[in-house]
Amino acid sequence: MDPVKRRLSTRVIGLVSIAFIVLGITTVVGLSLRSNGILGATATTWIDFERLAQQRLLDLGTLRELLGYGGFIHDFHDYLLHGDEERAEQAGYKLDGAIVLLERYREDASVEELRDIETLEDTLVSYRAVLEELRDERNNGLSIPAVDNRFQINDGPALDALNGLTDRWRRSANEARDAMGNAVAAGRQAMETTLWVMPAFILAGGFVVVLLRNLMAITRESGRREAKFRDLFEGSINGLLIMGLDLRPLYANEAMATMLGLPKSEDLMERATLADFLPEEEARTLSEIRVQLLSGEIKRAVLRLEVLREDRFIVWLDMNARTVEWNGETAIQLAFLDVTEQVVREREMEFNRAELENQTAELVVLAEDLHVERERSEAARVEAEERRRFLQTLLTTMPSPIFYKDLEGRVEGCNGAFAALYGKTSDAELIGSNLTELADASFTRRTAEIDAELIAKGGTARYERVFTMPNGEQRTMIYNKAVYNKANGDAAGIVGIIADISEQKRMEEALRRLATTDPLTGALNRRAFMDAARINLNRAGRYQEPLAVVLADIDHFKKVNDTHGHATGDETLKLFVATVQSALRETDVLGRMGGEEFAILLPHTAIDAAMGLANRLRETLAAIVIPCSTGTFQFTVSMGTSSFRDHGDTIDALLQSADEALYVAKSQGRNRVVSA
Ligand code: GH3
Ligand code: MG
Ligand code: MG
Repeated sequence: MDPVKRRLSTRVIGLVSIAFIVLGITTVVGLSLRSNGILGATATTWIDFERLAQQRLLDLGTLRELLGYGGFIHDFHDYLLHGDEERAEQAGYKLDGAIVLLERYREDASVEELRDIETLEDTLVSYRAVLEELRDERNNGLSIPAVDNRFQINDGPALDALNGLTDRWRRSANEARDAMGNAVAAGRQAMETTLWVMPAFILAGGFVVVLLRNLMAITRESGRREAKFRDLFEGSINGLLIMGLDLRPLYANEAMATMLGLPKSEDLMERATLADFLPEEEARTLSEIRVQLLSGEIKRAVLRLEVLREDRFIVWLDMNARTVEWNGETAIQLAFLDVTEQVVREREMEFNRAELENQTAELVVLAEDLHVERERSEAARVEAEERRRFLQTLLTTMPSPIFYKDLEGRVEGCNGAFAALYGKTSDAELIGSNLTELADASFTRRTAEIDAELIAKGGTARYERVFTMPNGEQRTMIYNKAVYNKANGDAAGIVGIIADISEQKRMEEALRRLATTDPLTGALNRRAFMDAARINLNRAGRYQEPLAVVLADIDHFKKVNDTHGHATGDETLKLFVATVQSALRETDVLGRMGGEEFAILLPHTAIDAAMGLANRLRETLAAIVIPCSTGTFQFTVSMGTSSFRDHGDTIDALLQSADEALYVAKSQGRNRVVSA
């Protein structure tokens, strides 16, 4: 290769290797920052999401309690019964508080949410107005039924709005959780890329630097040799010799003489033949060439001769021979070029080439050693340690449990939150241990199935599991898992992040209970009873089954309140429900329809059986002895029954008939059951 080109390619290799190293460092720093940012943001998103979702769902629960079972009306009853001003104010505060609470959500609300919020507010404001009116009228001797009537505001739209908000907010909470899942997946991928890109770049960069240094050294040496060659070329001249067919010299130039170690060309002329200067074998070759040239067999010949000079030095001459006319005779013209220097250099270069081959072999060994030694070299060890600490800090900062494990399920790393799941105080206690030995058999079996599928397919997996904590507590967890790969693409293990959604599950359950049950007695509320009744009536209609309805109203309950106080009244209602519930079958449905009036739905039950059950219930309830401040008291219940198809085929019609029967029972003296 010519020196200019060689220098140029050296420069190109230099630039490429620098670009390589710069690119490597930039990528590693960039990816580290990115994974740091993503995981940090994930942590924040997760915390914000938890806080927002919990607050919203709790607030909705408060509203539901207020609207669904008029918590403030109780306070107002107390105020009427005992003149307790504080209770009246409490009733007002509850409504005011709910209005303020809704105001808070106006700011970020969508159009639909705003509509729901306004519907709710309108209803609350209406209640508030009624409350104020009633307080003004209190001195005119209000009765509790009159008060209850005044509070009969149509709260249907408000409850619909509440359900609408619950649906939407729960959906947005789920979306936030999904967003978190995505961010975690992206963070994990960035982390993983960083992990594999860095060593690859360090290795490649190191290799290029070593290669470059060797190339530059060789280039410098060759450059020096080239310069010498050039000097030689410029300083040398062709030697020229004309000889006769008998090989006797006819003409030689000065350069020729010099080539042969003679002071002057004339000295050459005195020699008998050129063969004097040649070793035996070469002299023979020269003689053969002469014969071939003269016979016309060849036109010219090129030969390198090893010549013994007059001064006993050996030189190498490249000879170009052809026949010419010399003074009218056929002669042989020989042009010589002294290539001694070149031959010497060629021999040196041959030696150098062999040396270069050795060096290349050494370089390969060095690169392989470098690869092997990388793990052990101090710089790489420090680098790896820094990476490990960086990752560990990220893991520790995350509030959610995180782990990564190898293909056999051995933990390679985790954070404190994960260690705590297995009752360990630090991640170090878990690293290296196999998770399959730490959980119960069925949990482990299912996990192994999921992991095997994930490793086979690659990508990510997301699933919900109930996890048993070391103290036996059951917690609902969402597992997000992904396979991480080696540089060559083979699976290396599994990364997982776990979200504990037990609290959310518990709140959802509490919310569901709030929406369907009466908070005082635990019986279904009117709305939930009606829903359950419609489903049962549908089935009874389809399968031609009997079904009965019982409506029960406690006798003279007002007197219970008046004599023993509202709190004892409440206790009585609770006892009523507990007693009835324990006498019913699993499929029977008990609902509080309002005040001290309850409905019982009896599927698969004909009217006679329903009457029998109602009478047994009536006797059991009448036998309950309730302690009070003045000793004990007892109460009785009146009931009306109706039967599917005989008295109607909708729940409204059946309740209406039962209510008419109940009215008859009351008018006939109470403590009895009457069929419609
Ligand atoms: P009757 O035999 O005619 O049914 O007489 P009654 O006194 O039971 O009359 P009514 O059904 O009209 O009265 C029901 C009363 O129950 C009115 C109200 O003060 C009281 N009440 C309604 N809900 C509650 C409650 O949650 N707790 C208490 N302690 N009392 C309630
Ligand atoms: Mg009553
Ligand atoms: Mg009543």
